[in-house]
Amino acid sequence: MDTSCASVLVGEIRIEYPDRMTRRGVVLIAVVVLIAVVAALLIVFDPFKWKPQPEPPPVYTIAIDAGHGGRDPGAMAADVMEKDINLAIAGLLTNLVNAEPDLVGVQIRTLDMFISLEERIARAEDAGAELYITVHVNSYTTGEPKGVETIIDSTRELDDDSWVLGELIQHGVVGATGAVDRGTRSQESYLQRTQIPAVSVETGYITNDAERANLLNPEYQAKVAQGILNGIRQFIDWKYPAVSPGSE
Ligand SMILES: [Zn+2]
Repeated sequence: MDTSCASVLVGEIRIEYPDRMTRRGVVLIAVVVLIAVVAALLIVFDPFKWKPQPEPPPVYTIAIDAGHGGRDPGAMAADVMEKDINLAIAGLLTNLVNAEPDLVGVQIRTLDMFISLEERIARAEDAGAELYITVHVNSYTTGEPKGVETIIDSTRELDDDSWVLGELIQHGVVGATGAVDRGTRSQESYLQRTQIPAVSVETGYITNDAERANLLNPEYQAKVAQGILNGIRQFIDWKYPAVSPGSE
């Protein structure tokens, strides 16, 4: 028996169909099949990469304080004032920190002005700082003592991260400058007013002639700043180990 057929052109394809199906029905089926094929190809080859985007890498805020300022000059020797050296080193350190892709430096004192200790801590915490580092210069009644030391507030528990930060910065500055290593020590200070890891870096002795000359030299100041940055870098890498790419 001869089955009666008709045909329709869908694009380039001529589709033959039994007479009992309507022309519109056949076109509809062809379109549905075409959409299904395109959807399957999109799912298999995923040309637009429809995947969740990875989280942006974390950024850590570092508060960098220049000790003293304004009416408070800090230590003085041979007409040199501690506050000026502190400000120079803190500025260099802030630039170095900001050059790191995952760090943001917030300089607490940027001018020769007095800022109360409470205000310094408040500015750091308002900025959401992870760490607080205040830059200082030592002094003594005689000219002999020299070298770098880092001070941690004595009320901090021994498992407080301030001790780790202090050791790493002390090691970093001694390594970058070749200065005498006076180690870390504890002393009660305003740094107990914050919970974040906080240290005071005593970058050298203003009362030692050779060290004072170094501390006034921009090249030596840059070495001190680099040493502090090296300590910060090591602390961040220790405290917040990076998730290696691909290990989601
Ligand atoms: Zn000081």
